[in-house]
Amino acid sequence: MSTSGVVDEPPESYTMEPVHEQTATLHTYCKESALLHRSLAELPHMVTNAQGSFLFLGNGQKILDACGGAAVAILGHGNPEVIAATVEQMQKVSYVHTMSYTTKPAEELAQFLVNMGGDAHKLTKAYLVGSGSEANEAALKAARQYFVERGEVQRCYYVARRQSYHGNTMGAMTVSSNLARKAPYTDVLPSNVSFVSPAYAYRYQEADETEEQYAARLISELRQEFLRITPEKIISFIAEPVVGATSGCVPAPRGYFRGVRDLCEEYGILLHLDEVMCGVGRTGTYFAFEQEGIQPDIVTIGKGLGGGYVPISAMLLGDKVVDSLRRGTSAFNHGQTFQAHPVACAAALAVQKIVKRDHLLQRCAECGQKLGRMLWETFADCRYVGDIRGRGLFWAMEFVQDPSTRAPFPKHIAFGARIHKAAFDFGVAIYPGTGTVDGVNGDHVLIAPPFTVSDEELCLLVSTLKRAYDVAEDSLDG
Ligand SMILES: *Cc1c(COP(=O)(O)O)cnc(C)c1O
Repeated sequence: MSTSGVVDEPPESYTMEPVHEQTATLHTYCKESALLHRSLAELPHMVTNAQGSFLFLGNGQKILDACGGAAVAILGHGNPEVIAATVEQMQKVSYVHTMSYTTKPAEELAQFLVNMGGDAHKLTKAYLVGSGSEANEAALKAARQYFVERGEVQRCYYVARRQSYHGNTMGAMTVSSNLARKAPYTDVLPSNVSFVSPAYAYRYQEADETEEQYAARLISELRQEFLRITPEKIISFIAEPVVGATSGCVPAPRGYFRGVRDLCEEYGILLHLDEVMCGVGRTGTYFAFEQEGIQPDIVTIGKGLGGGYVPISAMLLGDKVVDSLRRGTSAFNHGQTFQAHPVACAAALAVQKIVKRDHLLQRCAECGQKLGRMLWETFADCRYVGDIRGRGLFWAMEFVQDPSTRAPFPKHIAFGARIHKAAFDFGVAIYPGTGTVDGVNGDHVLIAPPFTVSDEELCLLVSTLKRAYDVAEDSLDG
C-alpha cells in the first residue's frame, strides 16, 4: 500500500487526526498499516512516549495508564534504572543458546524467584520464557513429564475451571475457558481437559450459604469431577488464585484453596497455580497463593515480571517435580530458542530488585486498600454497580442491570465498553472485560495501576472513572 519508495512511515492518521477520527475507520485512509492489529477494522492509538504512570499519544493526548496495559507495568514506564541495567546487559552478552551456555542475569533472576517462594514445599527451579502462554505451556508439559518419569503414563487429563484464562497457544488455550477467545478453535483443540465451576461468590454463592459452605460445595464438586474421570488419570488441576481478565479480580472464598490443595494431595494430582496476572506482587503479596496459606507444585508468572520492559515469564517448579525429573531422565523435555534470554532476564531482575529495595510490595498493599476504600465510597450506591472486588492494586467493578437480581446487561448494551471509552476520552486507561458471568454475559472494568502510583493519581483515577460511569449511565437513560 506504500505510495513512496522509501521505508514506509506509519499511517499518517497516527499523527494527523484527532483520536476519535483516528479510530473511526481505517478504510478512509489510503495507507493501511502493515501490522496485523487485533482488529482489521480499527486502528489502535499511537503511543509516542510513556513516562511514569502516563502515556503520551501522537495526537497530543495524555493518558493515565491505570491498568498498566494488562496489569503489566508494575513500575510505570520509562524507569531509568531498568533501562540502564538492560542496556548494560546488551553490551555484555545479548544472546546465547541455553543448550551450552548460561548467563549471570538468568541465574540471578531464577535465584531471586525461588527465594520468593517460601519454605514449606520449596519452589526450587525457574524456567524462563517469553509470555504467560509459554509459561503455562511449559507447565502443562512439566506436569505430564513428572508422571511419565514416575511410570504413571496413564495420567493424561487436566482439570481446570470455567471462567478462567491461561493463554492463547493451543495447549494453554485447551485448559482455558475464555469462550470468546476459544470459539473458532474448539474443534481443533485436544479434549483431555474438563472444567469445574469457578470460585466466584458474587455470582455463584447461594443466598443461604456461608462463605465456608460455598467453598466446601466447590471442593465437593471438584472431588466428584476427579472421581468421574478417575483420579489416577489426572495430571494437574489448574487455577488462577485471583482470576484476572476473564471475570475481573475474583478471589476465591475462604478455605477453597486449602481444600483444593488437600484434595490434590489425596489423589497425587499436581496443583498448578497460574499467577501470570495476579502474581509478582499485584495482590499485595509476592505470590497471590501466600494469602491462601498453601503451596502449589507448579506456579506460573508473567505480566508484571518484566514490568513491560521486556517480554518475560516464568514457570516455577516445586522440589517434588524437580526431584522426579532428576531421578528419571534428568532433563526437562522441552526447550525454546529464547529461553532465559539474558537481556530479558537483566531487565526483569532490575524491575524485581527495585520492587524489593523500595518496599513496593507493602506500598502496593497499602495503596490497594486506599484504592478499594475510594472505589467503595464512590461507587457503592451507583445504580449499575453490582460488585467491587480486588486485592492489592488489582481491582474490578462488575456492572449489572439490576443490583437486586444481579441480572447482567444484555450484551449489545456493552456497558463496560461505554465506561472504558468515556474514561479514555477523559484521559484514563482502564481494562474492560465482557462475558464476566459465563463467557457471554456480563461486564466489568479492571484497574491495575503501577505499584508506584501516587495519591494524586489514585484520586484522578477514581474521580475520572466516576465521571465516565456517569456518562455511561446517562447514555442508557438518553
Ligand atoms: C495474560 C494471561 C495469560 C497469558 O499470558 P500471555 O503473556 O498473554 O501469553 C495466562 N494466564 C493468565 C492468568 C493471564 O492473565
